[in-house]
Amino acid sequence: MNKASIYGMTLDQLTAWLSERGHRKFRAAQVWDWLYRKRVTAFTDMTDVHPECIAVLEEHFVIQTLTEHVKQESADGTIKFLFKLVDGNLIETVLMKHKFGLSVCVTTQVGCNIGCSFCASGLLPKSRDLTSGEIVEQIMNVQLHLDQAGQEGKVSHVVVMGIGEPFDNFENLSDFLRVIKDHKGLAIGARHITVSTSGLADKIIEFTDSDMQVNLAVSLHAPNNELRTRIMKINRAIPIEKLMEAIQYYWDKTNRRITLEYILLKDVNDHREQALELAELIGDNKHLANVNLIPYNPVDEHSQYQRSEQESIRAFYDTLKKQGVSCSVRLEHGTDIDAACGQLRSKQIKESKPAGPGRIAAG
Ligand code: SF4
Repeated sequence: MNKASIYGMTLDQLTAWLSERGHRKFRAAQVWDWLYRKRVTAFTDMTDVHPECIAVLEEHFVIQTLTEHVKQESADGTIKFLFKLVDGNLIETVLMKHKFGLSVCVTTQVGCNIGCSFCASGLLPKSRDLTSGEIVEQIMNVQLHLDQAGQEGKVSHVVVMGIGEPFDNFENLSDFLRVIKDHKGLAIGARHITVSTSGLADKIIEFTDSDMQVNLAVSLHAPNNELRTRIMKINRAIPIEKLMEAIQYYWDKTNRRITLEYILLKDVNDHREQALELAELIGDNKHLANVNLIPYNPVDEHSQYQRSEQESIRAFYDTLKKQGVSCSVRLEHGTDIDAACGQLRSKQIKESKPAGPGRIAAG
């Protein structure tokens, strides 16, 4: 059986785990210091940790379970990593360099079952959830890449917007958030972390009640059920009314802003009337919403969708603004590499697919 990633343990969990095995409480904090401050990649490098403690950690855990499979670097500094998991599956992680800091977009599942009709990631169904350790490790690997390249700076922002539906892997997502927020761990401020969901209403309520304090983004992509069901099949099970009820619950309980993601698809959802309908849907909560307009990155497999014209993007934006809706157009990163989420992964898997019929095997 594969050993678990040590990064999957919260500080409390590791403290309890070591105590159960007769090790003093401070050992866990010592181990974390080596992992997150000094960023060692072998237990034996933790020179002030008692050898018996090192031995028990080595017996049950590993520090590195991900290996770099492919790395694409864009002229704007964006780096897309394709990591190979211990079971051979491939996942994507992206580093973006902003004026405000270094941001990493992480993946939470191998494949995705939500089936958004425009998405390269959703082309391959979910084969499993990532463990919390595998999610944390994506950030650690990116940080190690920066360290080894002699680049100053620490990952300061995290977006959970890579492959998968994070709320469909809720428990591991929660442990992941605890680890990266912990001031003894990666110490990433809650306000610098955003989790994006396709709109699992029950989980939005659970997330609100969990008081995680991190930012929430919801993929809306359409202002009415007819259109949203066409774009996102999840809307059949969770229609807009149910989603908006959950969002209202979040607003009432937290009084915090939500980002509403809206991917602009040419002549599908980018008309002025749809912008007006969207403003109406947000209604009296305009001060609690920011619409993030995302120009579509076309993928070969979804040739029915094209990128909206520049004038349509502008007109959509202007219409929302005139209705008093706060909105922005997402700055593009890595346009000279496989920019769409999941594009690099699906390309690599296709290239490694054996000729003839059969199951697509990742890795
Ligand atoms: S957009 Fe997100 S939720 Fe939808 S299929 Fe792609 S990865 Fe899944």
